[in-house]
Amino acid sequence: MKPKQFAVIGLGRFGASLALELMDLGYEVLGVDRDEEIVEDMSDLLTHTVVADATDEEVLKSLGIRNFDCGIVAIGDDIQTSILTAIQLKELGVKTVVAKAISVLHGRALDKLGVDRVIFPERDMGIRVAHQLVTPNLVDYMELSKDYLLVEMTVTECMDGKTLSELNTRTRYGVSVVALNQHKGIIVAPTAMDVLKAGDIMVVIGTKNNIDRFEGEVV
Ligand code: ADP
Repeated sequence: MKPKQFAVIGLGRFGASLALELMDLGYEVLGVDRDEEIVEDMSDLLTHTVVADATDEEVLKSLGIRNFDCGIVAIGDDIQTSILTAIQLKELGVKTVVAKAISVLHGRALDKLGVDRVIFPERDMGIRVAHQLVTPNLVDYMELSKDYLLVEMTVTECMDGKTLSELNTRTRYGVSVVALNQHKGIIVAPTAMDVLKAGDIMVVIGTKNNIDRFEGEVV
């Protein structure tokens, strides 16, 4: 099967990092930026690179942008350009359009244009770092919806040797342990009898409030 093709529009810090990671993951990536120097720096690292103004419909058409599986608008600071580019990608028929927003209003405008996924990298990273700072054993944190979180936490000494049944997270905190990453491998859907060891990673799902309570008591 042909690998998925991504077009990253805007090769600033966010766009460049995203494009390089997609390359590392084995996908084809077209990078577009209007800055010649930036494109020159990335030209050996991406499948294709083009110096172009992404708000120019003819340029995007000539790049065959409509054939890409996913177009990412990684232009943040210039909201007008970000919105115009997103409109072009949608109108040209790119299957999935993802766009970076720098403010709530910017995000709302992109949403209204029918952008498939709006991301807020700075806001999300700020939230993530805040959680990691107050919960030292937090490894990763993901918002599943407005109310629900999925978090990865290190099992602390106070949980060492306990079974999930003894920890009793569902009744005590209203959260579920959905996976355990132990030295010997990952246990998906662990049972009540699985034993926790300090240093293991557990993946926990629950509402924000319940995860907060759980994090506060098991550090
Ligand atoms: P970051 O914060 O991730 O660095 P920026 O918004 O500062 O994001 O960078 C956006 C990038 O998008 C810059 O490299 C800029 O040259 C590029 N860019 C801005 N406008 C256009 C446009 N109309 N067409 C193509 N690239 C653009």
